[in-house]
Amino acid sequence: MFAELRNISVYYNKSMAIKDVTINVPEAGVVSIIGANGAGKSTILKSLLGMVPIREGEIVFDGESIGDLETAERVKKGIVLVPEGRQLFPYLPVITNLKLGATVRRDRAGIAESMEYVLQLFPRLKERLKQNAGTLSGGEQQMLAIGRGLMANPRLLCLDEPSVGLAPIVVEQVGEVIQDINGRGISVLLVEQNAHLALGVCQTGYVLEVGRVVMEGDRETIRCSEIVRKAYLGG
Ligand code: ATP
Repeated sequence: MFAELRNISVYYNKSMAIKDVTINVPEAGVVSIIGANGAGKSTILKSLLGMVPIREGEIVFDGESIGDLETAERVKKGIVLVPEGRQLFPYLPVITNLKLGATVRRDRAGIAESMEYVLQLFPRLKERLKQNAGTLSGGEQQMLAIGRGLMANPRLLCLDEPSVGLAPIVVEQVGEVIQDINGRGISVLLVEQNAHLALGVCQTGYVLEVGRVVMEGDRETIRCSEIVRKAYLGG
């Protein structure tokens, strides 16, 4: 498997955030993790990036155990996070926010190629390169956060609740963007409360409840399951 979290547990002081979580992401696949507020979705992504200490378990990326690597080293290997809440620099222009995504890279030609792809994917950003990020609409800010992630040249792009606060039509656009990115061979790990988005784009899904995986399977299995229909798809 391309990326694997094997039996990961994370605690914040004494309180358990995730317990014995195993997630597999195949090369060039899209995997979604669906869960309610506080289920532990962000913690899973943070453990993959090395932003929280793991108490138990192992993380393997492209055949290598990476659990001891610093976050920056993991980013260099191609694991990139588009964080919850976007975390942009609101008083810096769009172009600077994008370039900041590439600070781990030294390959100038590759950086230029990524920029070209990002601006082709997000023409609205191209029209607003000099505008401060904080003046963009919510949807544009989410696109900018994804664009900044792409500037790091990900092999596995991790998206933390990109749908939050967006109108349904914009959520749909986020889904299309994820498909475009995946079409370039980039694997995607998406965590979402919005099951429509999560199940619209993934091949495999996981359902997380109170820090534990309670269900996993291909997208149709998850979509048709009783828990997901009742709790996430409105019946
Ligand atoms: P949300 O959608 O609200 O972001 P989530 O599914 O991403 O939720 P996490 O943010 O991973 O959930 O949180 C999982 C649990 O760990 C929650 O009970 C949360 O309160 C707790 N938690 C998260 N971060 C910390 C922290 N830094 N210190 C203490 N507890 C934390």
